[in-house]
Amino acid sequence: MERQYDLIIIGAGPAGMSASIYGSRAGLKTAMLEMGAPGGKLIKTAEISNWPGIKGTHGAQLASDMFEHSTAFGSEYLYGNVIRVENNGEWKSVICDDGSSYQAKAVIVATGTQERMLNIEGEAENIGRGVSYCAVCDGAFFKDQEVVVIGGGNSALEEANYLTQFASKVHVVIRRDVFRADQIIQDSVLKNEKIHVIRKHRPVRILDDGQRVSGIVLSDVETKEEMTIMCRGIFPYIGQDPATSFLEGLHILDENGYMIVDENCETSCKGIYGAGDVIHKKLRQVVTATSDGAIAAQHAFHQIKGV
Ligand code: NAP
Repeated sequence: MERQYDLIIIGAGPAGMSASIYGSRAGLKTAMLEMGAPGGKLIKTAEISNWPGIKGTHGAQLASDMFEHSTAFGSEYLYGNVIRVENNGEWKSVICDDGSSYQAKAVIVATGTQERMLNIEGEAENIGRGVSYCAVCDGAFFKDQEVVVIGGGNSALEEANYLTQFASKVHVVIRRDVFRADQIIQDSVLKNEKIHVIRKHRPVRILDDGQRVSGIVLSDVETKEEMTIMCRGIFPYIGQDPATSFLEGLHILDENGYMIVDENCETSCKGIYGAGDVIHKKLRQVVTATSDGAIAAQHAFHQIKGV
């Protein structure tokens, strides 16, 4: 039999956990469904220095504190990999890959984004053998070794800085001659003596010695001349794609797969909301994700209670 809730939140990152606090505190029968560990991108982030009130903390610590808070008012925490959401009028169905399903009057989707792959030769077969998308998880394996970070956004540069505590040298490869990251993060990277920036190059091939990564071939974007960097670790941080494939068919996604929501974080399907990095917006931060979660849950409360 399907279990029924007032509010189901899909995803337990900062947006989902914030929605859980607001939904359960408002007295809604609330559940959070997550397919991995709670915390979302927070648990893959070394240092958080823009969460108001705390000048610096570890992502995993903030995630753990948020998780404790998010279940403190009666919200249930459920495991599930959602494959479909159905909009059946007053009740929505949330269906998981193991056949379990749930019904709710409101659904908040807070599934965030997934790391993009480079899609170059040698990448897929070397995941776990030197190619990693999580410096916080795997950085310590590269003590006194050279590593390469691909990308010039906030994620790439923050994680490049983080990796310098282990690696002997961190090469940062960007395809233009300018970074995309915030100026303060750029400045800290440029001051870091262990970081070597390679501009106007694209990765073309990852090399291995049969057991693990041994290097990466880069191509000059102008001359097409190739160069090889010998390294043991490669960390692609080239952006994200929204985790929304289970929403296809509801007509609530933009051309890039992000959810389109109004100022209440509600989609054109009444009772289905989006919050956090998964929605179409400009500023993707922990603080904006938690704000979205609060707005969505509060609006769901008004919708469900009719007040
Ligand atoms: P991003 O800002 O989109 O940056 C992606 C980087 O990868 C860019 O430098 C881009 O180059 C490069 N790139 C993209 N495709 C590539 C390819 N095929 N080959 C080589 N390079 C490629 O992504 P992000 O850093 O993951 O950040 C995502 C969002 O989260 C952003 O809104 C960011 O501000 C936010 N965020 C914020 C913080 C923070 O505030 N502390 C931390 C992490 C993330 P081009 O610039 O040439 O396009």
